[in-house]
Amino acid sequence: MPDIPPLLDETTTTGDLKRLVEAFVSERDWGKYHNAKDVAIAINVEAAELLELFEWVREHEIPALLADEEKRRHLGEELADVIMLCLNLASVADLDVADTVRRKLEKNRVKYPADMVRGNYRKYTQLRAQSKEEASHGPD
Ligand SMILES: [Mg+2]
Repeated sequence: MPDIPPLLDETTTTGDLKRLVEAFVSERDWGKYHNAKDVAIAINVEAAELLELFEWVREHEIPALLADEEKRRHLGEELADVIMLCLNLASVADLDVADTVRRKLEKNRVKYPADMVRGNYRKYTQLRAQSKEEASHGPD
């Protein structure tokens, strides 16, 4: 594998990443397979592969897992699979990732006010139960 220069979060936009994934798909003529449904399914398959890394790992073993070079590499690859497919879905569905994330975060800010949920597990669960009850009275 050729030695390629790193892309860093500080200097790479979500648009840059979307274009890299789009080029990868286009170069292989895979766009015909990448409809929104199949990409959403693939996201879940890759998310399961990510979860598999933690299957049967006890909570106290997680720091050692994250410190293990080979396991960190594997974790990064599975995380990348999920992220790339999420970027692919955003392209297929013509969604702007940054704006979509910002809008959803704002919705979550309203749904989970920091002053009500900060550091208080009991209040957080009570708020979620209340939100679920409100959601059952109409579309979210
Ligand atoms: Mg994978």
